[in-house]
Amino acid sequence: MTATDELTITRDAEIGTWFGIGGRADRLARPANEGQLRACLQIDPGLRVLGEGANLLVDDDGVRSLVVRLDDESWRRVEFDAPSGVVRARAGADLPRLILDCARRGLAGLEGLGGIPASVGGAVVMNAGGRFGEIGGAIASVRAMSREGREVLLRRESCRFGYRSSALSDLIVLEAEFQLTPADPGDVRERLKEVMAYKKTSQPMGDRSAGCCFKNPMLRAPVPDVGDAGQRVPAGMLIDRAGCKGLAIGGARVSERHANFIVTSPGARARDVIALMRELQRRVADAFGVRIEPEVAIWRRDGIGLPVEGDDPRAGWPVARAAPGAGSRMEIKP
Ligand SMILES: Cc1cc2nc3c(=O)[nH]c(=O)nc-3n(C[C@H](O)[C@H](O)[C@H](O)COP(=O)(O)OP(=O)(O)OC[C@H]3O[C@@H](n4cnc5c(N)ncnc54)[C@H](O)[C@@H]3O)c2cc1C
Repeated sequence: MTATDELTITRDAEIGTWFGIGGRADRLARPANEGQLRACLQIDPGLRVLGEGANLLVDDDGVRSLVVRLDDESWRRVEFDAPSGVVRARAGADLPRLILDCARRGLAGLEGLGGIPASVGGAVVMNAGGRFGEIGGAIASVRAMSREGREVLLRRESCRFGYRSSALSDLIVLEAEFQLTPADPGDVRERLKEVMAYKKTSQPMGDRSAGCCFKNPMLRAPVPDVGDAGQRVPAGMLIDRAGCKGLAIGGARVSERHANFIVTSPGARARDVIALMRELQRRVADAFGVRIEPEVAIWRRDGIGLPVEGDDPRAGWPVARAAPGAGSRMEIKP
């Protein structure tokens, strides 16, 4: 361990993710305040922020950049002003807990996000949500830090929340202010229960995953029996109809319950998930002519996103081939 102005940096540290697989961080810092976060940016302006790791796949080789975790108590603070409906939550606050606390206080607006594991920062950056609403809809403003260490305050319109996206992705989210609606606590809790019940029946909540692996694509041209140009269609439906439910590579498998979830079993490697994601992209493109893009954030040693096939300097990315007569099981040909 080394210390910079009381900032502690741990070497060769675990990066906790919901997938439960992947490599380690060469260096991991847990800044206790914004001053220490600035110090982290001076050490590495390209640092990566780790939230709850619920939308994250870390490649097996780990990460060379400094990884920063905002999990100090000071990053988890939340202030409620129930009469006005204003709630201020720091980036490291736990979203499920926040939703529950809002429901108890009779504050409506976040209950549609029930069952989404996240830190407030992670959820805001990707505008987490689903059929019951998106977090951007409840945001009044976001306070963030630029890579140069400057503090910026963005009103909701400037955050440009879109489908699983925002204008915040190059910033570090420090705090979000929500404008919620005072309501009957019983009604809010009831609604939250309905949302949770839906999630439990439609998603493999008990398995190790990162939620939906792919964004729902917008069709560029009409696709027979799928949709019209300009329509956003569920990636899970395309993956299912391309015959990929249950498809497995190594310890990574397409969930039988929800085809857009890749679930991992003990011993799985990140490269299994990556190979399976590529295979799903290939099969969906072959079946429908539609390209599906990752929703899950992928951290590689020196980059982010899915590696381009044939572009990986390491030999032996697993190449998926259907095993003859093996149904949807696959074998891996290194
Ligand atoms: C069982 C399950 C169900 C899920 N269901 C849904 C769902 O219904 N809808 C949905 O949208 N998602 C869903 N997800 C995915 C996940 O919960 C969300 O994407 C969530 O917003 C991830 O937040 P996180 O804090 O875990 O971020 P991480 O996974 O830790 O990070 C994701 C990205 O956000 C960045 N980031 C994190 N914190 C900050 C910050 N403070 N400032 C800047 N960047 C930051 C990271 O650098 C990374 O690029 C699900 C996941 C699981 C495991």
